[in-house]
Amino acid sequence: MARILIVGAGIVGLSVARAALRRGHAVTLIEQGEVPNPHAASHDQHRMIRMHYGAAEGYTRMVGQAFAAWETLWQEIGARHFADCGALAISASPGDYADATLAVFRRLDVPHEVLGAAEIERLCPHLRLPLTARGLLARPGGPLFADRILDDLARLVTRGGAAIMTRTQAVAVDETAGSVTTADGRVLAGDFVVVAAGAWLSGLLPSEYGTLPVFRQTLCYVEPPPVYRESWAAGPAIVVLGERNVYALPPLAGTGLKFGSGGRRRPGTPAEGFDEDLEQGRRVIDDFGPYLRDAQDYRPLRMQVGYYVMDDTRRFALHQARRRLVVTNCDGQMFKFGPLIGEHIMAAWDGETSFAELASWGAGSVAT
Ligand SMILES: Cc1cc2nc3c(=O)[nH]c(=O)nc-3n(C[C@H](O)[C@H](O)[C@H](O)COP(=O)(O)OP(=O)(O)OC[C@H]3O[C@@H](n4cnc5c(N)ncnc54)[C@H](O)[C@@H]3O)c2cc1C
Repeated sequence: MARILIVGAGIVGLSVARAALRRGHAVTLIEQGEVPNPHAASHDQHRMIRMHYGAAEGYTRMVGQAFAAWETLWQEIGARHFADCGALAISASPGDYADATLAVFRRLDVPHEVLGAAEIERLCPHLRLPLTARGLLARPGGPLFADRILDDLARLVTRGGAAIMTRTQAVAVDETAGSVTTADGRVLAGDFVVVAAGAWLSGLLPSEYGTLPVFRQTLCYVEPPPVYRESWAAGPAIVVLGERNVYALPPLAGTGLKFGSGGRRRPGTPAEGFDEDLEQGRRVIDDFGPYLRDAQDYRPLRMQVGYYVMDDTRRFALHQARRRLVVTNCDGQMFKFGPLIGEHIMAAWDGETSFAELASWGAGSVAT
């Protein structure tokens, strides 16, 4: 049995804790906020999981593995915090994200349907599409109910015997000793330290990670026009709309309809805070452009702000040095992989794979 210290109790930290406990290790989680922390990137009503991953074949394979990993969690917690409403990516021109995804689906035999513009509009009467548009619908896909998952994971690992230190900031990690120093001067002794500090990593390890590219992403909960309320609730999640880098999560299981837009991402760190003008919500809605019927009748209800690390490689980074593993570059993509990555990290610690293999897998280089 090893002593596993985990800095950060977002989806990654909690998932590593669960995997470590399942393998019989002793776990201490160190979290600067509450658990879960409403400011963590992992915390929101929903996060999307879908097979669509553009041309990234390795990550497409990983999503298949991720679905299987979620199934084991649902069994363990006795709840299924996922709605399989299907996920739909819309292609407006050859070579765009949805089109690249289709090529990968065909190569990997991922089950899917290709829909014409009229079929898409029957499924999603809230959308208005050019005649040439094609839809790529795949199941399973849809919202993971993120805040409920974090709550249940926190309960699960607490029941499993993890020590959870809330409102405790880690200020240093000794990779040789395997220890963590907290802001109040305690030195916690461990055998293996996993750093899953999200957008705050550069503050904890400034000499190595001080220049990380950190982004602020704003989402908007919206009220659709009454005529489209039912169709949004009955329709699929939207992965992308042609050249518009936008997505939508349907209002299921008591959650709200949420719109996201890549155009509302900009460099920024958590020190800027988590407030956003509701006016910005109008911009998020406008980013859906001509594809949204009656766009002017949508009303922004609430803004949701989160931060994550994302460099140009768009690949998850799992850096191991002696007794320390840093998980970073989680991008706007890691939630769906939480339970899977937790299991893979602990498999590497237990010697079932090497840390080099872990890093290569995390970077999306899965061959089989
Ligand atoms: C707006 C937005 C939309 C997204 N959409 C999706 C999506 O649809 N699908 C998807 O799969 N992914 C999505 N993501 C990405 C995903 O949410 C993140 O990649 C993932 O949640 C990162 O998890 P994490 O545990 O690494 O980090 P976080 O959830 O940020 O957790 C890090 C934790 O570490 C704690 N911490 C930091 N430093 C310290 C310290 N020194 N001491 C103690 N505690 C510390 C923090 O308080 C925090 O609780 C989205 C992210 C955002 C922000």
